[in-house]
Amino acid sequence: MVQTIFSDTIVALSTPPGAGALAVVRLSGPAAIAITASVFSKKSMPDAAGHTLHYGTLRDPSSGEILDEVVAALYRSPRSFTREDVVEISCHGSDYVVRQVLGLLLRQGARLAEAGEFTKRAFLNGAMDLAQAEAVADLIASDSALSHRVALNQLRGGFSQELRELRARLIKFAALLELELDFGEEDVEFADRTGLAQLLSEVRGVVAGLLHSFELGNVIKNGITVVIAGRPNAGKSTLLNALLREERAIVSAIPGTTRDFIEDEVSIDGLRFRFVDTAGLRDNPADEVEAIGVSRTRQRVRQAALLLYLFDLTEMTPAEVIAEIQELTRGLALPVLAVGNKTDLATPNAQGAFLAQFQAAQVGLASPTPMVLVAAGQKRGLDELQTALLTEVRGSALENTASATIVTNVRHARALETAAAHLQAVQAGLDTGQGTELLAADLRHALAALGEITGEISSEDLLTSIFTQFCIGK
Ligand code: GDP
Ligand code: ZN
Repeated sequence: MVQTIFSDTIVALSTPPGAGALAVVRLSGPAAIAITASVFSKKSMPDAAGHTLHYGTLRDPSSGEILDEVVAALYRSPRSFTREDVVEISCHGSDYVVRQVLGLLLRQGARLAEAGEFTKRAFLNGAMDLAQAEAVADLIASDSALSHRVALNQLRGGFSQELRELRARLIKFAALLELELDFGEEDVEFADRTGLAQLLSEVRGVVAGLLHSFELGNVIKNGITVVIAGRPNAGKSTLLNALLREERAIVSAIPGTTRDFIEDEVSIDGLRFRFVDTAGLRDNPADEVEAIGVSRTRQRVRQAALLLYLFDLTEMTPAEVIAEIQELTRGLALPVLAVGNKTDLATPNAQGAFLAQFQAAQVGLASPTPMVLVAAGQKRGLDELQTALLTEVRGSALENTASATIVTNVRHARALETAAAHLQAVQAGLDTGQGTELLAADLRHALAALGEITGEISSEDLLTSIFTQFCIGK
């Protein structure tokens, strides 16, 4: 058995509370197997190998009462989630049974686990680093295919690996700088300044990329806010309803935080889109007219990740559409999708001409607004619209999602920001021929910030704040 740090054995319900077919009660610690064996019918358990399943009954030794038929999964240190001896008892999933089983195990010497304590032990016993431990929380919370993939990648150590490589390269230079310091007045330069500048610019590039990915990580975790704007009667409510009905099974309605707008979520290709209809209450035209005031809409647009500008194809010219989009997005760097509605009222020729004029009017622009045509009332063109939404989002933020590391955690982003600031100071110091002492100090700070992410550098406060965000049993 390898040496682990904790002498006590913790226990908790690891499945969600409430009635279910099965519930899993998990123990971890040096006495996990002995405690289970003391109430388990099968006497051979203490000698059993790790990674084995044991069917039997749990009996309260004081009353002799049989509590439940269970299957106990046994893991021996260090080959377990926490690296300690672990037993997972699958019992019947009623609250009553679970309470009885937990009570019994507590009486036999286990202690009730605190929130996140299993994962915390896994970290402190060296089974995973901090970023991986946090990914466990993300994985449990992930509710789209993509957020699941990102968390899993982090859990497997993709992000940590990248950070370790960064730190290792910086540490080499930091060590050389420290060596110079040791020689003091003699004015030696061990660290090659050109090499350091080169390395710095590389590392800063990587950190900036990771920080940029945080935006995307947020998008994946929290969904993409799409604001639907357009003149009254463009068909905003009709379009929103059509999008929602298409995805009925995976749609949830969120009441708006104010009565002026409505939010709904649709999952498209594993990404969550949160649509905000700026027109206000759906069935009240009076409200709607009042609510589309440009300033009010602009407020919503400012919070959007993407603007969907909807217009009635038969009511507006391409120039008017472009002008209104410019008006709505003035001063904002925001991807926009123009959606022409009511194709059922326009001939194919008229539609073609509109598209051509719209494109012609934007020739020479750095980022021309793409357009799709739909008939929301007839639910036509919705597939093309969804594809265009995905393309817009991917094009602006989701570059290389499959392979690149994505930062999803606020703590990690803050640490990266700190590291970036100190690295910039090192850069400035190099540019101005600053003394070794200041360079070394800034480099040390940057290294500390990067180290905080994986927990190579950690404090008790930090650990507590991270692991208490978990629920009990994780
Ligand atoms: P909003 O004010 O932008 O929310 O527009 P609504 O969704 O309330 O729609 C305004 C009117 O346009 C309603 O009478 C809709 O039935 C109609 N409408 C919406 N989409 C279409 C469409 O694709 N074709 C036609 N012909 N009418 C539509
Ligand atoms: Zn409406």
